[in-house]
Amino acid sequence: MSLNMGEKTSEDQKYKEFMMNTYSIRLASFVDWPFTEDCSCTPAKMAAAGFYHCPTDQEPDAVKCFMCQKELDGWEPNDDPMSEHKRHSPNCALINLKKDIEDKTMEEFLKLECIRQKNKLMKVAETAMKEFEHQAAKTREQLELLAKNL
Ligand SMILES: [Zn+2]
Repeated sequence: MSLNMGEKTSEDQKYKEFMMNTYSIRLASFVDWPFTEDCSCTPAKMAAAGFYHCPTDQEPDAVKCFMCQKELDGWEPNDDPMSEHKRHSPNCALINLKKDIEDKTMEEFLKLECIRQKNKLMKVAETAMKEFEHQAAKTREQLELLAKNL
């Protein structure tokens, strides 16, 4: 069994995720974004709502909030990024920031960065727990099968 906890948190990956604090870098991630004109979820609005584009083969419109790590896909042209963010992750620190995400003091930035790092660790731990539970269930099945055949 392997939990692969180190794999997704390499220094390179950590740096890339830290850089997503910056609006222009989040905006630049929306290279192949399908919604660009005459719609609510343009790259500019997505980036302003805290999202960056992280497409996969199965989910080409997958995005992630750099703060709460919430992943969303299945976007419709009329979806409003900030409203969707609020609906799916009401406790996100960005949602509860009572000002524009980019308009913050250094102190606010540092507080938010602590929250972002805590959220990231929680996500990694959650993924590892799910993988462990999955492996434990599989091992239990195999043991029960062995016991039956004794
Ligand atoms: Zn969020």
